[in-house]
Amino acid sequence: MLTTLRRIVLEFSQSSELECALLRMVTQVRTAMNTDCCSVYLADYQNQNFILTASDGLAERAFGQTTLGFSEGLVGLVGQREEPINIADAKNHPNFSHAPEVGEEELSAFLGAPIIHQRKVLGVLAIQQKETRGFTEEEEAFLVTLSVQLATAIANAEARGILGKKQDNGKWLKQLQGIAGAPGIALGQMITIQPKADLASISLEKFGANNNRDMQIELFENAVEETRSDFVQMSIKLSEIIQDDSLHIFEFYKQLLEPTNLGHEISDKIQLGWNAQSALKLVIDHYIVKFEALEDPYLRDRVSDIRDLGNRLLFNLQQQSQLDTQLPEQFILVAEDVTASMLAEYQHKGLQAIVSLCGSNNSHAAILARALDLPAIMGVESIPLGQLNNQVAIVDGYSGELFIAPHQSLKNEYKLLIKEELKLTKKVREVTHLPTITQDGRSIELLLNAGLSSGFEHSKHLGAVGIGLYRTEIPFMNRSCFPTEQEQTHLYKAVLTAFPQQAVTMRTLDVGGDKTLPYFPIKEDNPFLGWRGIRITLDHPEIFLVQVRAMIRASCHTKNLEIMLPMISNVTEVDDAICLINQAYFELSSEFFLENGQVLSRPKIGIMLEVPSVIFQLKELAQRVDFFSVGSNDLTQYLLAVDRNNPRVADLYDAYHPAVLKALNTIAQESAQYLIPLSLCGELASEPAGALLLLAMGYDKLSMNPHNVPKIKWVIRHINYHHSKIMLSHVLSFSTAQQVHSYLNEQLEQLGLGGFIRAGM
Ligand code: PEP
Ligand code: MG
Repeated sequence: MLTTLRRIVLEFSQSSELECALLRMVTQVRTAMNTDCCSVYLADYQNQNFILTASDGLAERAFGQTTLGFSEGLVGLVGQREEPINIADAKNHPNFSHAPEVGEEELSAFLGAPIIHQRKVLGVLAIQQKETRGFTEEEEAFLVTLSVQLATAIANAEARGILGKKQDNGKWLKQLQGIAGAPGIALGQMITIQPKADLASISLEKFGANNNRDMQIELFENAVEETRSDFVQMSIKLSEIIQDDSLHIFEFYKQLLEPTNLGHEISDKIQLGWNAQSALKLVIDHYIVKFEALEDPYLRDRVSDIRDLGNRLLFNLQQQSQLDTQLPEQFILVAEDVTASMLAEYQHKGLQAIVSLCGSNNSHAAILARALDLPAIMGVESIPLGQLNNQVAIVDGYSGELFIAPHQSLKNEYKLLIKEELKLTKKVREVTHLPTITQDGRSIELLLNAGLSSGFEHSKHLGAVGIGLYRTEIPFMNRSCFPTEQEQTHLYKAVLTAFPQQAVTMRTLDVGGDKTLPYFPIKEDNPFLGWRGIRITLDHPEIFLVQVRAMIRASCHTKNLEIMLPMISNVTEVDDAICLINQAYFELSSEFFLENGQVLSRPKIGIMLEVPSVIFQLKELAQRVDFFSVGSNDLTQYLLAVDRNNPRVADLYDAYHPAVLKALNTIAQESAQYLIPLSLCGELASEPAGALLLLAMGYDKLSMNPHNVPKIKWVIRHINYHHSKIMLSHVLSFSTAQQVHSYLNEQLEQLGLGGFIRAGM
């Protein structure tokens, strides 16, 4: 039976046409289960009914015609109860609904199983038999197992097949769901971009005996030079408008092009007799396989960057003339895998939004899209690109919805929303230089979360008053060994001098969990509960001391450094880390004093509150450090025992869970009692509702991505502290996250702030 089941599911998922696949499947199931009829009813949520889509046993004329309301008939009952229903004599069941056109007069027994994908009933799979008998437990188990396995295949097939469906009388129908990659909305013509040169199409060849090895090397070197200059041009173009660290991708490309990396490996292959294109393909494929095998999702996401780099090199190698497609004035870029260089190339040519069939909101394209303020949808299910080219679409980057060929009424609705968005963005920018203060005079500081030095000068103008979290692990990632003290000093100095008058909080290395270093692999069954953050650096004082020395050294002139320790779970870790920081400080102080009589200032030291245990030791911790900063991303993950990166439990990961909010409130109250400054640097700070609640709780500072600073400032300037306290007291009385969300959404709408959480003003 297991083999039959696997075969049915495999054949189904490989089929390109949903309806044909269903027809074949019902016949296979009828035969395998030796029954008189097998049918599939698919749910139509617009019309709130199940449609008989395919059957082997019922009349063909009824396919696509016969419908049963969501609470109608035995099929409706299966859908409602979300469990299998096994009835020996269906016709005498009170829920039986007679549809003469289906021709089921002779059928008596009924067994139906719901087809459920991600908690949503997609349809019902039913078998029927002439004989009046209850189906066996084994038959029931088979049908349930089959429908569980078919659910994903049907969900994917629906997404693929939906493009082929006709629009029903003027209603938009073609709606695809992806991952919301960057907020914002766009309405325009889709232009699909295929990679210009494709390494996948290269067949491996060696150059013949008379061919010149040097010529192949020269060809390759010229291509490298051209590619390098392409990247310089692109990064110059982008740096005019990008104000954060996303440009880092071009550094990564340039590093890969260095003779010590790809260059040397490709030359080696040419030396072995491969022609330049084949050598390039061999090396890039090797890198792709290596990166795909990495556990770290950030590094795994670099595969598309490597492929992009390979194709660019190939393009220059082939010396193709760039095909400049006739682009419309404005367009939505759609590609199998939108890459950073595609964005760089098209962003000045009328790019309105991006849709990437691959990738997640961790991909560089999404990071860049957010930096460029372009709406983005990532990871839309695999649909043939060709079907999308030139079609008009609506991109909703808030919800991840893509509407293809929308009807005029939906277009009008979205046009209005776009206008309102523009107004809102303009309005928000007006407050950039004003203080972050509520209408009744309560102020709060807004700070930046940052990861690299580039672009700080611009970020400053967004109205933040310092850096609340500088994540140091990113510069440690794209390397082949730990950076030296000098390299780190250089890097940190750039950050510290960008905000010479304001505090810059640098977090010590927080690798482990989902962030691993290629040259320092950590293999664990439970990485988020394992060797991570301070646990690693205390076990490796040689790494910690070098980093802290570099930070202190870098701050010798600006004296604006604050050091923050990640993943603290007990008091001893704090004592040990302070001991090492003191050691570094005193060593350096005497060095500096002896060298040039300079006096170094000792940085303030703070800890991240992100492991639940610290909530119960705030007093002891407050006696040891100068400040606290809540890492709400991890605090949520650890309080709720929900992996922050696992899409299967994404619904459970919620910073508005009453337990998380109560923890945040306790932290605020106790910190005030111990007179210790408190900030929050997780994503919650950049959400309007989150910022309001944190303000009401008494947080002194909120740290967030540069892009969100003006928005949160505007929100705070337009509310009343007193009112936020009332909101907080309501929120703290709720027992479910759903209650919290609906109350906060309603409040934001009433306060005229709804435009920040959905499309439109
Ligand atoms: C956090 O956990 O909230 C945080 C800011 O740190 P990271 O997201 O880098 O773990
Ligand atoms: Mg964290």
